Amino acid sequence: LEHSRFGQHLLKNPLIVDGMVERAAIRGTDTVLEVGPGTGNLTLKLLPKAKQVIAFEIDERMIAELIKRARGNGLERKLEIRKGDICKTGDLPPFDICVANIPYQISSPLVFKLLLHRPFFRCAILMVQREFAQRLVAPPGDKLYCRLTLNTQLLARVEHLMKVGRNNFRPPPKVDSSVIRIEPRNPPPPINFTEWDALTRIAFGRKNKTLSANFKTTSVMGTLTKNYALIQSTLQSKQSNSGTTAPPHLDIVELQKIVSAKVDAVLVSTQFADKRARNLDVDDFIKLLLEFNKVGIHFA
Ligand code: SAM
Repeated sequence: LEHSRFGQHLLKNPLIVDGMVERAAIRGTDTVLEVGPGTGNLTLKLLPKAKQVIAFEIDERMIAELIKRARGNGLERKLEIRKGDICKTGDLPPFDICVANIPYQISSPLVFKLLLHRPFFRCAILMVQREFAQRLVAPPGDKLYCRLTLNTQLLARVEHLMKVGRNNFRPPPKVDSSVIRIEPRNPPPPINFTEWDALTRIAFGRKNKTLSANFKTTSVMGTLTKNYALIQSTLQSKQSNSGTTAPPHLDIVELQKIVSAKVDAVLVSTQFADKRARNLDVDDFIKLLLEFNKVGIHFA
């Protein structure tokens, strides 16, 4: 079915459309990004408030209907349509605000595409699947708290705005929805996102194990030792180029011992050794990564 392939559930309740537009607090100078305008239920209410709406839509038939309606309302000169899959376009154009009833199958990649986009946007008001919304705002210890929660909260503040039942859509989806507000953290925390990703992957590796158990597996220790050896040898070659005497070469068993001791020391000093990842918040993980980096342990 075409409508389920593209997540085409049109928002038919105008009160909810109005609520989303109101919460966006659009200024007359704003460029608004819309993802999946469909036939334009939301678009037609964004256009009068914004300087411009840039809308990405994958389905030609939706685009034809959207153009017809925008023309009928004399709003087409403010509307720029980009045809295609928003996940497959390269960089997004600059925008101030994103307002969208998104196709749910692209929720995660879309949120990270928005959050990694520069320059920063002010906020995004998004209709998403209820459970996705709950994951983004879950507190530590909650059963929906996961890497998605942490990765999002590292880069943004997320607020749950309203619950929206499935019968507000045509055709109704199989799940309920929620409107959320996402505001990027600007400036973002001083964290290398690739390292962050690798660290949280390890910490959540086996969900019910302690951090200590997850970090001290053979495969994790192997990776961390390799990273450590690489960095040490880079440092050594820099030092020998600048004329200072190189430290003695270390073999892999020796390195493994050093790295193992460093990992233990960090886990003990942060008091996270016996904690489980699901109970640590974003600030705990930031602290953990910074402490590892301080002693030369890197995750990527
Ligand atoms: N905004 C409209 C509304 O609220 O009535 C339609 C929302 S509907 C949930 C999602 C829309 O996104 C559909 O029009 C669909 O064709 C479009 N779409 C699906 N996947 C897409 C993608 N990868 N890139 C751009 N648009 C997409």
